[in-house]
Amino acid sequence: MKPVQLVVVGSIGLDTIETPHARKSEILGGSVSYACAGASFFATTGMVGVVGADFPEPCVDVYRQFGIDLKGLQKAPGKTFRWSGVYEQDMNNRRTLATDLNVLGTFMPELPDDYTRAPFLFLANISPELQLHVLSQVKSPKFVVADTMDLWINIARKPLMEVISAVDLLTLNESEARLLSGENNLIKAARMILGCGPKYVIIKKGEHGAMLFSKSGMFIVHAYPLEVVHDPTGAGDTFAGGFMGALSERGDVNEAAIRKAMSYGSVVASFGVEDFSLARLQNLSRSDIEQRHEAFRALTHLG
Ligand code: AMP
Repeated sequence: MKPVQLVVVGSIGLDTIETPHARKSEILGGSVSYACAGASFFATTGMVGVVGADFPEPCVDVYRQFGIDLKGLQKAPGKTFRWSGVYEQDMNNRRTLATDLNVLGTFMPELPDDYTRAPFLFLANISPELQLHVLSQVKSPKFVVADTMDLWINIARKPLMEVISAVDLLTLNESEARLLSGENNLIKAARMILGCGPKYVIIKKGEHGAMLFSKSGMFIVHAYPLEVVHDPTGAGDTFAGGFMGALSERGDVNEAAIRKAMSYGSVVASFGVEDFSLARLQNLSRSDIEQRHEAFRALTHLG
């Protein structure tokens, strides 16, 4: 197998999701599942996560099908992390019904030796303490990105600020950016976050796309418009996975490369929400991605 270019650490969950159209129980989810699947189209990706003894073997086969390197996947006694949520009619708002940490509650991510030298690292949504534990194991990575959520902003702000000060790019959604910064205006929110250390901030705006902020300016990428969205769960993780995969494939980390990688993140995420769990991504090829990427360029090109 080729050396791992991108390491992703995050949660692995069995999700129960209710949308206005359907209810699915105990389907494969978690931030690291979506992010690794999204990245796998572009780069050799190593997964760091934990599952319980009850984790279904067919789900491991799904990871294998994406060609994900599984040396960092731990199996612990106990039950796999469970999460359930329900979406409102417009699919933009969702309510968490239950979170059962199970084996995620005692997880200690340990990086296999070769992962510690990987050039790209994505700290997907997981507690900031665990993100810091991973950061302490890597040897001068080229580019590190972290994601977070409202829960950690509320209950673990101190370690989260440590993570933020140590990474190159922070990604979070707009309500989280407001919560973290105390600013309602997203430009002011991004400026405050940039002042805490990272060179870049990406604020995700769901079906309205994502914004990149750096000291030198702003960039906007749309979401690819879809007529039917079946399940938006994990869209942000799939976006970040596609983004990090595309960035790792090229190897450059300048602002032009970051902008281009964001357009790939947007395209991969648009496929992900067309079905539940990783189902649509499982039936996706690189040429499907390139085709939609061309259509996306045509949609957003002014000249
Ligand atoms: P997103 O739609 O981007 O918020 O991601 C949803 C995924 O995050 C689901 O597949 C869940 O399994 C996972 N998730 C939900 N809550 C947590 C949590 N507290 N920590 C880590 N992962 C979580």
